Amino acid sequence: MRIILLGAPGAGKGTISSLLVDKFGIVQLSSGDLLRTEVKRGSETGKKAEEFMNNGALVPDNIILDSMRIRLNDDDCAKGFILDGFPRTVVQADSLKQMFADMALVLNAVINLEVPEEILLRRLTSRRTCSNTDCQAIYNIHTKPPKTANKCDLCGNALIQRDDETEDVIKNRLIVYKEKTQPLIKYYSAYSQFFSVPCIDAKECMEAIQKKL
Ligand code: ADP
Ligand code: ZN
Repeated sequence: MRIILLGAPGAGKGTISSLLVDKFGIVQLSSGDLLRTEVKRGSETGKKAEEFMNNGALVPDNIILDSMRIRLNDDDCAKGFILDGFPRTVVQADSLKQMFADMALVLNAVINLEVPEEILLRRLTSRRTCSNTDCQAIYNIHTKPPKTANKCDLCGNALIQRDDETEDVIKNRLIVYKEKTQPLIKYYSAYSQFFSVPCIDAKECMEAIQKKL
């Protein structure tokens, strides 16, 4: 099973990805996580990407394309994968199409998660992330608080607000989404594997996805 997941920041791509991972035994490929790991490692890619990320801008296509091409060739991807946060631009979508052709892979679904903007804003500002890079568990101070304030339930490390989750940066990410990523909905509408589902409640969203798959 190979799936592309589309949706605005805060639409629930991470949550739905992990549910699909459990369901189908495939790997989640989050371009954001991949880049954050590079930033933490202080690699060349990380150094180039960091400033774009902290401003809520997209990192240049060539940087993310190189990382994703390498990742897609890893052994664990052979059992199938879900792309979370990639592609984000029409250039990336065209390149991905070429990667699928080169690797003779079949795309099974392109799923667009639909969420009203006021819900996106509320979700993003109330999100807290585990500071442990090996964990990166996500909480929400309103809907999914940790058992102990500011501590990760899974590993006990401190929870933080990501640098790109302050209010100004969030507004910018939504503007960038509309300009650069929203056009992908039209791009993929031509595919028979494309469908949209509302994603207000994760459980209902998963049920809707399973019905369509
Ligand atoms: P969200 O989906 O919540 O916006 P992500 O974790 O997917 O956050 O991405 C965080 C940041 O990483 C983005 O704001 C952007 O700077 C960068 N990024 C992630 N994926 C891509 C991509 N496919 N192309 C360009 N930049 C990306
Ligand atoms: Zn943790």
